Amino acid sequence: MTEVQLQEFKLEPDSELRFEVESKNEKVVLEVKSGYAELFGTELVKGKPYEFHTGAKVAVFTWHGCIVELRGRTEVSYIAKETPMVVYLNVHAALEQQRVAAEQENTRGPVTMVVGPGDVGKSTLTRILLNYAVRMGRRPIYVDLDVGQGHISVPGTVGALLVERPASIEEGFSQQAPLVYHYGHKSPGENLELYKTIVSRLAEVIAERCENNKKASTSGVIINTCGWVKAAGYKVLTHAAQAFEVDVILVLDNERLYNELKRDMPKFVKVVYLPKSGGVVERSSSQRAESRDARIREYFYGKRTPYYPHSFDVKFADLKIYKVGAPSLPDSCMPLGMRASDALTKLVSVWPSGALAHRVLAVSFAGGPDERALHCNLAGFVCVTAVDMERQTLTILSPQPRPLPNTVLLLSDLQYMDNH
Ligand code: ATP
Repeated sequence: MTEVQLQEFKLEPDSELRFEVESKNEKVVLEVKSGYAELFGTELVKGKPYEFHTGAKVAVFTWHGCIVELRGRTEVSYIAKETPMVVYLNVHAALEQQRVAAEQENTRGPVTMVVGPGDVGKSTLTRILLNYAVRMGRRPIYVDLDVGQGHISVPGTVGALLVERPASIEEGFSQQAPLVYHYGHKSPGENLELYKTIVSRLAEVIAERCENNKKASTSGVIINTCGWVKAAGYKVLTHAAQAFEVDVILVLDNERLYNELKRDMPKFVKVVYLPKSGGVVERSSSQRAESRDARIREYFYGKRTPYYPHSFDVKFADLKIYKVGAPSLPDSCMPLGMRASDALTKLVSVWPSGALAHRVLAVSFAGGPDERALHCNLAGFVCVTAVDMERQTLTILSPQPRPLPNTVLLLSDLQYMDNH
């Protein structure tokens, strides 16, 4: 059932209005008429219209009560009185105490990792905690290890961002100068060795940067992770915890994971169990694929603020494309001193062919095609929109005008059909 047009909601203190926009090409406008409200930790300005489009799943929370108006068709819209927001606020208060202590003792602030299975609200809790921290005048570092969604850059990457202002309601955190590393797949399981390599690298670079930025260092780090929590997925989490030397792990809605981490983490790591919000919406694999696609489209075309990407042809001969991971051989067939797993982080040259059509390529800052390329952060991405085998050219969609920088291009599994 679709509810229509203008709706007004009176929210009691400590309650939230949840709504979803589902119909194609639909737009819903939200406005706070009186009182105070926030959206995933960002304060809403009274009287200002905010637009939400197809696929949006939103909660407007109020600590003190408010009146909110929605204009447009929502799939569902209801007020929920039961929310875990007080618990999340207490977590924020505890982190804030650690930041104050870090400032006084000249040590680093809390490094917090948010874990849990798929669709429990990990990304949302990360956003809320970052917003609360920045609203207190902190400058926390946001790390996203969820290669399936790619909240900081495009899917298939891990990244970090210094958060200097609350997330914009419509566009999320400002994407200025993110630190991004290439992975190239949608799940850590597709190349565990490579995933661990780049996670360790990201942790190393953040630790270095914190040494030179006291404000960021005392504000701490908040890490969002993938929803893969069993078997090798669990190992991936414990590896990340070690690499980032986490102090706090927030486990959302999974007692088994909570108990495993309590058992396996060193005693100084606080493992905290948190309930999930009843409002978190489960997404089907096709909805996940759509949101991946939307992330890539936003990278090239912008979200609210439009970008105008360039499209041009490049000769095969002018390109240096590599993929990461050579076919793995048994240890006994490897040259002396090399392990079979080393092959998984090797760069292998790729000669252009029709198979490159619609693939995303990461533009590396690396000078040459060796393993160091994986340790270099990315300059950006391009997408192959067409391959002409006769003329031996690729048509490239790029945020920058030609020529393509003369650097290493890293091939991603991710595809994007440009029909903008
Ligand atoms: P993933 O497994 O993809 O990492 P996740 O655990 O990070 O998922 P989120 O992305 O935080 O989960 O949440 C899933 C969806 O639910 C998002 O679209 C988010 O906007 C929505 N959502 C989160 N909290 C609420 C809420 N309280 N009310 C309504 N929608 C919500």
